[in-house]
Amino acid sequence: MSTRPRIVILGAGFGGLFAARALARVAADVTLVDRHNYHLFQPLLYQVATAGLPPSDIAWPIRSILRRQRNARVLLAEVTGIDARGRSVELHDRTIPFDYLVVATGSTHSYFGHEEWQGIAPGLKSIDDATLIRRRILRAFEAAEIEDDPAARERLLRFVIVGGGPTGVELAGTIAELAQHTLAKDFRRIDPSVAKVTLIEAGPRLLAAFREPQSAYAARALERLGVEIRVGAAVTACDERGVVLGAERIEAATVLWAAGVTASPVGRWLGVPIDGAGRVRVRADLSIDGDPAIFVIGDAALVEIGGKRVPGVAPAAKQMGRYVESVIAARLDGRAAPPPFAYRDAGNLATIGRQRAVIEFPFLTLRGWLAWWIWGVAHIYFLVGVPSPVVVSLRWLWEYLTYGRGARLITGSEHAD
Ligand SMILES: Cc1cc2nc3c(=O)[nH]c(=O)nc-3n(C[C@H](O)[C@H](O)[C@H](O)COP(=O)(O)OP(=O)(O)OC[C@H]3O[C@@H](n4cnc5c(N)ncnc54)[C@H](O)[C@@H]3O)c2cc1C
Repeated sequence: MSTRPRIVILGAGFGGLFAARALARVAADVTLVDRHNYHLFQPLLYQVATAGLPPSDIAWPIRSILRRQRNARVLLAEVTGIDARGRSVELHDRTIPFDYLVVATGSTHSYFGHEEWQGIAPGLKSIDDATLIRRRILRAFEAAEIEDDPAARERLLRFVIVGGGPTGVELAGTIAELAQHTLAKDFRRIDPSVAKVTLIEAGPRLLAAFREPQSAYAARALERLGVEIRVGAAVTACDERGVVLGAERIEAATVLWAAGVTASPVGRWLGVPIDGAGRVRVRADLSIDGDPAIFVIGDAALVEIGGKRVPGVAPAAKQMGRYVESVIAARLDGRAAPPPFAYRDAGNLATIGRQRAVIEFPFLTLRGWLAWWIWGVAHIYFLVGVPSPVVVSLRWLWEYLTYGRGARLITGSEHAD
């Protein structure tokens, strides 16, 4: 039995994985728990959902990433609770004791109280979500090919995306291109390029996290791809046949949800207060109120610095993961605590189809094709540290140059969705 301190990390996303790796140099036993056996690169999920990349290009086994890290072990398990007083994490059939706990279980979709819409309008957060969306999109074209009724065919070739943030914009642009370029010559009875993509946003503009000129640019670029944009329009109902916007009904066989997220139930597990999006407010060193050995990081944490909220993005989660290591290492070594967590803003990026993007770095704003290439390079840089980043980058470039959609497979049960 080891007598070293036990550090348990929940979640092997960007926050948890980067914390675990940083802890390689600390004399402690690190246990990383995740419900999946892979680390998922969420920024490219939309590429899997639109048949551009296979799932194995954006997800890697956690075990293989940590293979060489002798002080770390990996457990595939679902966390069901935390006994903060008893110093243990609850899984379905056992508990794991800890001395330090890092909670990095991320966030999930929010249907704003309409959980019944989930089966109708899937969100994009996991590999399963992405392959389900891919199946629905591709199957809609297949069903249209054998459909005789023009109205039913039109409904099958209508794609509605709810939510005009980066994910909604990325999905809308890529589905439009899929229809107009990749699938255009594949069918005999239907013309896939007549497919209609509608992007619905309840707020007054797309990409609300960006400044106005970038929102306007994204809207223009999407419209040039044939995407219909509806801003200031809230979905009031959603069923198998489409969506309702107040008095208007849009008939669509495929509805996708990119409208909101809520944090995993960390607040409930820890019995601490949460904000409206389910996040746990943490202190300057990312520990929770009243317990300096329990940290919450990444999308599950509400971190405010100088009155400004740290955004729920991958660089923030990574930085928090590394920071928590410095706090724990200092405590274990008996050194002074490091200064409070400081967020280095990595900027805002969103891509619109295969030729355009918008970027807001603290020192630079860019729109257009150059922004797209910078976006691409930034994502390749993101991949550093995961297995075979070069292969993923090359495959991605190949898809770009050829308009290919190499992963155009309909997989999974016919009745799975
Ligand atoms: C479609 C999409 C596109 C995005 N694009 C970008 C982008 O372009 N740039 C950017 O910076 N950010 C992007 N983000 C946001 C970014 O991915 C998140 O901010 C980041 O992943 C947060 O990291 P995290 O470690 O907090 O959580 P995650 O990376 O979500 O990791 C959470 C982990 O916890 C595990 N987990 C959850 N609950 C449990 C449980 N009960 N038991 C066991 N394990 C559990 C999950 O399996 C997962 O591995 C995107 C997100 C999505 C969904």
